[in-house]
Amino acid sequence: MTLKLAERMSRLGTEGAFEVLAQARRLEAQGREIVHLEIGEPDFATPDNIVEAAIGAMHAGATHYTPASGIMEVREAVARFVAGRLGCQVDAADVVLVPGSKNVLLFTLLSCVEAGDEVILPDPGYPVYASLVNFVGATPVGIRLREDRDFRMDLDELESLVTPRTRLLIVNTPQNPTGGVLTREDVEFIARLAAERDLLVISDEIYSQLCYGFDHVSLLSLPGMRERTVLMDGLSKAYAMTGWRLGYAVAPPALAASMDKLMINSSSCAAAFTQLAAVEAFESPESERAVGRMVAQFQRRRDLVVDGLNRIPGFRCQRPQGAFYAFPNVQGTGLPEKELAERLLDEAGVAVLPGTAFGAAGQGYIRIAYTQSEDQLRQGLERIGAFVESAVKKP
Ligand code: PLP
Repeated sequence: MTLKLAERMSRLGTEGAFEVLAQARRLEAQGREIVHLEIGEPDFATPDNIVEAAIGAMHAGATHYTPASGIMEVREAVARFVAGRLGCQVDAADVVLVPGSKNVLLFTLLSCVEAGDEVILPDPGYPVYASLVNFVGATPVGIRLREDRDFRMDLDELESLVTPRTRLLIVNTPQNPTGGVLTREDVEFIARLAAERDLLVISDEIYSQLCYGFDHVSLLSLPGMRERTVLMDGLSKAYAMTGWRLGYAVAPPALAASMDKLMINSSSCAAAFTQLAAVEAFESPESERAVGRMVAQFQRRRDLVVDGLNRIPGFRCQRPQGAFYAFPNVQGTGLPEKELAERLLDEAGVAVLPGTAFGAAGQGYIRIAYTQSEDQLRQGLERIGAFVESAVKKP
């Protein structure tokens, strides 16, 4: 039999980070030593107290199905945490726990977006946004993030992209891949626009605890936004818990109910002991201190990477205020970003991503994840510098 995949599969993209990671692993299997600056995965271990909480939960019998939207006690802890941090009213009934925040995006698109609708999303941006928008038959419309505006969008341009077919706007702050953040002025403008044009907004705030000298502003906290905002967040990044697979939505009630149905029809529930460990993550002062230590280290790494990149001829790098990515402009090297990324991996043993893995507006940039130790980052910078010097001298 020749297996024929459904047409919709041709519309689904992938994540460049996972592809480059697989390529880097193949080179490592051949004995090459690679510096990994490609994947958005903290190198820190999950804090011990959170691991202990999960082990304790397993011993106490939390190894079975839970309600599809999650254990009520955990949903209440999420509601308290979000309300406390973002300064808004959150009802536990509107919290849905999912195995990874990506599901918040998928479930919102499946629930609220029809084929032919338009969805405005950041360009460059997290590639799964456009991939899933295409998958559900809608049209992604990129709003360009501009280097000369610290990778914020031009608000007039955003307004000009809204048409009668626009159903949803996806925002992400702090942002992957640029590390840019939305200011209070940006967030207030977006809230006004969403209300005027009756748009639903997904606010992807998965990096909101990773801000450097900047106070995160959430769309959810603005008056009137609860009814039209889906908060997309999770434990992967701030708590170094990528492999635990726990994300959550705070959604308008009808959408939360729809997500519950989609959970019943897909994963059934997020892992019970992972859910219970989240209460420890959110409520223990020990976890708060651990996050504080990780954020301080990320900030040091950011400075090391940005300063190092700006010393490489042909590179120009903004100092991002959040997340753990640097997005240098590499046009000055004369090498297209894709060729530069490929040659850095093959010839210098440094895995990075071309900016175009995040959309057309990533042309001329590469993304560097500063999720590795300072030693590894120094080594990566040295290798990039040496490669660029030799490649630019003798192309
Ligand atoms: N949103 C953004 C902007 C991301 O960069 C990522 C992961 O890289 C995710 C969401 C998904 O995170 P998870 O599914 O681990 O919660």
